[in-house]
Amino acid sequence: MAKQYDVAVIGAGAAGMMCAAVAAQRGKRVVLLDHATRLAEKIRISGGGRCNFTNMGAGPANFVSQNPHFCRSALSRYTPQDFLALVKKHRIAWHEKHKGQLFCDDSSEQIIGMLRAECIAGDVSWRMPCKVGAIEKTGTGFLVQAEGGDIACTSVVVATGGLSIPKIGATDLGYRIARQFDLQVVEPRPGLVPLTFDGPSWEAFAPLAGIALEVEVSTGGAGGKGSKGKGGKGKAGGHFREDLLFTHRGLSGPAILQISSYWEPGTPIVLNLLPELDVAEELIGAKTTVKKQLGNVLAQWLPARLAEGLLTANGFAPDARLADMPDAKLRKVGDAINRWAVTPTGSEGYKKAEVTLGGVDTRELSQQTMMANKVPGLYFIGETVDVTGWLGGYNFQWAWASGYVAGQSV
Ligand code: FAD
Repeated sequence: MAKQYDVAVIGAGAAGMMCAAVAAQRGKRVVLLDHATRLAEKIRISGGGRCNFTNMGAGPANFVSQNPHFCRSALSRYTPQDFLALVKKHRIAWHEKHKGQLFCDDSSEQIIGMLRAECIAGDVSWRMPCKVGAIEKTGTGFLVQAEGGDIACTSVVVATGGLSIPKIGATDLGYRIARQFDLQVVEPRPGLVPLTFDGPSWEAFAPLAGIALEVEVSTGGAGGKGSKGKGGKGKAGGHFREDLLFTHRGLSGPAILQISSYWEPGTPIVLNLLPELDVAEELIGAKTTVKKQLGNVLAQWLPARLAEGLLTANGFAPDARLADMPDAKLRKVGDAINRWAVTPTGSEGYKKAEVTLGGVDTRELSQQTMMANKVPGLYFIGETVDVTGWLGGYNFQWAWASGYVAGQSV
């Protein structure tokens, strides 16, 4: 005989635990299922172990989705202030790092403990580790085949996350359930991920691994702040000012992770390595007074190895004397630094991606409740949905907000 519940939540991560706690505290009988042996691994490893649990400025402009307005309703019904109030209620010490990013002072384990305590307060039942099998629609709701016995329930909430970091249990179950019920899925792909470069044009940069600097980065056809839709795709050009890091295989650091969510394979990204300086104007102005070599002049502003690598890759001799160079050539040097266009050959993939772009198409879901329009009782929340945040606490805020509205609705 199947065990009866009001709600089965599949996936005990950020969104799933929030949803289970909210529904259970409304008096619903909730069971939370997860195939992992350790609870909420992604929260544990997040924010370098301190969990960047929200961003005080979170709004629809900070998310990538085919429908950029979809997340507005949930984000306004459960705000960063609401989550912070919960953190304060549980006496978890926190601090703002920068740009509205809030972190635990001590450990991300405290956020896991807090969510677990909220679930316990609502008397949520747990099945973990638990393999989840087929899900069938019945006359009154759903039958979920699960290790430990079948579950009969009125609502199923799918909170199985995306495909990033398979070694800690990411699977495509959410997308499979969506397709089983004839819901469209926007093709998933890695987001917030280092970009890779190979081939001869990258050889000059490979030895620069370890160099970091603040830059501006944009996609080739850069638009505003990544908030505008383009051709209904919700993927306007992104534009960020963050740190860049050279790696052995390419580029990383917050600037690259951010732009990776807007990057289209085969297109360039454009880097301004000295956003405060018009390099061409500086060089032309210095021509008559400075008798130095080009490489040495640039080394005032950029790490010397980077200046040399950039000059070599662009066919300029680092030992050329500034005074001997025509203005047109100095303008090209300026372009190579203020508008460096490079085309990544790929990304580090799901192994390193912090999130998965794409997912269950938002046109299939109610933005007030996260329920599938054509399958009453079936909900999708968190990263499984085609709503992906920037780096900086936005993805957790989406997990909390979408989990909260579904928890209120089931
Ligand atoms: P998850 O938290 O991934 O939870 C999904 C759950 O479903 C997991 O417990 C999983 O075991 C379970 N599951 C999956 N498949 C199955 C299956 N077949 N059967 C049963 N259970 C299943 N975001 C931020 O906002 N701030 C940060 O500081 C931050 N740091 C990050 C650092 C790293 C290294 C990574 C990888 C991500 C980080 N993120 C951060 C992103 C954030 O962790 C995710 O966006 C968020 O966890 C998504 O929540 P979710 O509940 O949708 O999915």
